[in-house]
Amino acid sequence: EKTLRFILGDQLNHKHSWFQERNENVIYFMAETQQETGYVRHHVQKVVAFFLSMRNFANELKEKGHQVIYYQIDDKKNQQNLPSNLDQILKEEHIEHFEYLYPDEYRLDIKLKTYCNKLDITSEAYDTEHFYTKREDIEKFFEGKKEMTMEYFYRDMRKKHGIMMLNDKKPEGGEWNYDKSNRKKWTGKPSIPEAKTFDKDISGVLKQLKAMDVKTMGRIDENKFPWPTSREECLKVLDYFCENLLVHFGDYEDALHTDQKFLFHSRLSFAMNSKMLSPKEVIETTLDYYYENKENIDISQIEGFVRQILGWREFMRGIYWKEMPGYKSKNELKNTNKLPDFYWTGETDMNCLKHSVNQSLDDAYAHHIQRLMILGNFALLTMTDPDEVDAWYLGVYIDAIEWVELTNTRGMSQFADGGIVATKPYVSSGSYINKMGNYCKSCKYKVSKKEGDDACPFNNLYWNFLYEKQEHFKGNMRMNMMMSLLKKMKKETLDNHINRSREIIKNPGNF
Ligand code: FAD
Ligand code: SF4
Repeated sequence: EKTLRFILGDQLNHKHSWFQERNENVIYFMAETQQETGYVRHHVQKVVAFFLSMRNFANELKEKGHQVIYYQIDDKKNQQNLPSNLDQILKEEHIEHFEYLYPDEYRLDIKLKTYCNKLDITSEAYDTEHFYTKREDIEKFFEGKKEMTMEYFYRDMRKKHGIMMLNDKKPEGGEWNYDKSNRKKWTGKPSIPEAKTFDKDISGVLKQLKAMDVKTMGRIDENKFPWPTSREECLKVLDYFCENLLVHFGDYEDALHTDQKFLFHSRLSFAMNSKMLSPKEVIETTLDYYYENKENIDISQIEGFVRQILGWREFMRGIYWKEMPGYKSKNELKNTNKLPDFYWTGETDMNCLKHSVNQSLDDAYAHHIQRLMILGNFALLTMTDPDEVDAWYLGVYIDAIEWVELTNTRGMSQFADGGIVATKPYVSSGSYINKMGNYCKSCKYKVSKKEGDDACPFNNLYWNFLYEKQEHFKGNMRMNMMMSLLKKMKKETLDNHINRSREIIKNPGNF
């Protein structure tokens, strides 16, 4: 039976069982399409990274002796959308059976299901063999529970997969979670090795994007492309992380610094989200390295890393499949403001935002605390429409794929899901930002001030937000302390917060 197997751009799993045997009756198909570059405005580095990785993947399949049809974005035959491309190939190649891998994105899942229902040949979908969990595992795990707490899921995953366990029940080191020791401020020491980057020629693909009028955002350096785009390069980033960064990963996980864009973060999210690396091999490789170098690496560093991947990453995927499609339009706080223009330009005097936005535009990357406590914090405090926030996050980051972007942005960061992912909103005044980094030192605004034109805007916006949303937080135990402080606040002080916040929100670029 002549079979077509379709592979999406984020399904580059070299180890998938599909590829273990050559079969003359099987043709693989991959395509770069304007449909995928156009559903949101993507960062130019993200488009380049996906296209180059897909091309390398297709070439590797060919080298292994598989038959592959690949449409580049400017291929004359490319119909630029999924169903038309598939129709064309099924006909041209006289295909009798169609197969695909389950997409991680709801939109594509529906598209492919609908497509298959209309086909007059047989079809079948397969697991991508990437995640530890299946789509529906979270729903089963939390069945009958009032809250879905990541920590319980994470512990269960540790037990189930025997990861960092002393026996079936006890965690290695005696604690499940070393989050408390993951909160150091970085002040110039220990020194941070440069990020692992790669020299490669991207001028060809950039020309193609221009010729095809692919609309992108963000900046790119033609001479230096920082992201891995083959399995070999991804493995190098993983080794580099183990050998150079793991030793302080946990310590400075939440740190912020003007001169350090990546600190001790792994920069592995793209390698994993494109599936060039599996979470299992990332965890196993880092754990092996840790066990071999235990005398130099504290358990809190490795546990923090494992928790992000085995815990958060799988948890977010589960929430996505449990809650979609409704999740995408949730707006429990009823926020409707426009995303400030400076998210697209980096032009703001607020130093923390200036650094975080410019870094996002320059590198298609910001680390977790920049995404959560600076960019997300400001968007939420200014009560921005979560649709606008999502569109920005889904476009700007190298690792942004809806299943993990949406749950982090709309859920964890914007609290638009009303508390499914996080039990309270991640908002703060300037003091948290000052505590974790040095942005405030060189800022036009004064983090210690709450009144006047030079007061840190976060200080006003924070209390204004709590005031505006007080009805919503009435029943939330975790907000009780802040709400009672709000109640006790002098009217004059509160009025000042409210008035300045209104000015900021009216014109966030120039107030
Ligand atoms: P490291 O700090 O080195 O962490 C290691 C790995 O852990 C990451 O590569 C990632 O795979 C995983 N991880 C860590 N935190 C999370 C998390 N909260 N959810 C899922 N996986 C996690 N991550 C994405 O992959 N895609 C996104 O689109 C995305 N959007 C985000 C939006 C917001 C508002 C926030 C707060 C977080 C978002 N994250 C997203 C999670 C996290 O910020 C990134 O995974 C991380 O910054 C990627 O950099 P890294 O590989 O250097 O991570
Ligand atoms: Fe950001 Fe306020 Fe600090 Fe300036 S003073 S860097 S605006 S937190």
